[in-house]
Amino acid sequence: MSKVVLVTGSSKGIGKATAIEFAKKGYNVVINYLTDENSANELAEYLQKEYKIETLVVKADVSNEKQVQNMVNQAIEKFGKIDVLVNNAGIAIDKEFEDRTVEDWKRTLEVNTIGTFLVSKYASENMLKNKSGRIINISSTNGINTFYPTSIDYDASKAAIINLTNNLSIQFAPYINVNAVAPGWVNTPMNQELPKDFIEEETARIHKKRFAEPEEIAKVILFLASDDAEYINGTVIKVDGGMM
Ligand code: NAD
Repeated sequence: MSKVVLVTGSSKGIGKATAIEFAKKGYNVVINYLTDENSANELAEYLQKEYKIETLVVKADVSNEKQVQNMVNQAIEKFGKIDVLVNNAGIAIDKEFEDRTVEDWKRTLEVNTIGTFLVSKYASENMLKNKSGRIINISSTNGINTFYPTSIDYDASKAAIINLTNNLSIQFAPYINVNAVAPGWVNTPMNQELPKDFIEEETARIHKKRFAEPEEIAKVILFLASDDAEYINGTVIKVDGGMM
């Protein structure tokens, strides 16, 4: 019986690359999107044709408890189980420190941190019943060492994901391994508006002298879901090309 992965925010960027890597390994994939229905459906069609796997496309806001419950229920109804959850959905609101509002803070924490908690809470019920599962949370190097006051709330939300990862690995022990991946800069739609000179400055700080491609993050996520990663639990893996 094929394994099942649920990837939140998987219509583009790292989430889409992750869905593709898991499909290559024969996983059935639950594709979650918030707004971009066309891209989610196109990805589903591509995965079915190219890798002969089954897909389920679900619209859900990860910060909305009812929608998360509905998404998990639909996944269980269709596939009977969830083997792997990748909490990838995230937002970054770029603004100067002076312009940042309480609403910015609340939305960022709601989606990035509370969203990660909510999907983990509901997906873990099935994993615990099956006494097996993997949860991989997408944090950021901004959650480890931060020097960007323009993303003060994002950085706090990503630090909280690391903390949450450890607590969830305790809560779900010994059945579910919960780990986090902390990417550095990645070439995704999230970064497409960055000014050219800022990209050059940041690239100079990276030992590899380039941003990552989404597939390079997705492959680490896939590894954490594999049998070879059975004893990796409650930790965070930086994937940043080396950064000063
Ligand atoms: P992206 O903007 O391309 O993709 C984010 C996805 O999350 C989108 O599909 C979006 O629709 C979805 N999403 C946003 N809010 C949602 C919600 N409330 N409910 C459901 N889905 C929602 O960004 P990306 O770069 O692919 O980012 C993926 C993850 O990686 C994010 O958690 C991000 O913080 C993290 N990350 C990205 C970078 C980077 O440099 N791109 C670096 C470190 C960490």
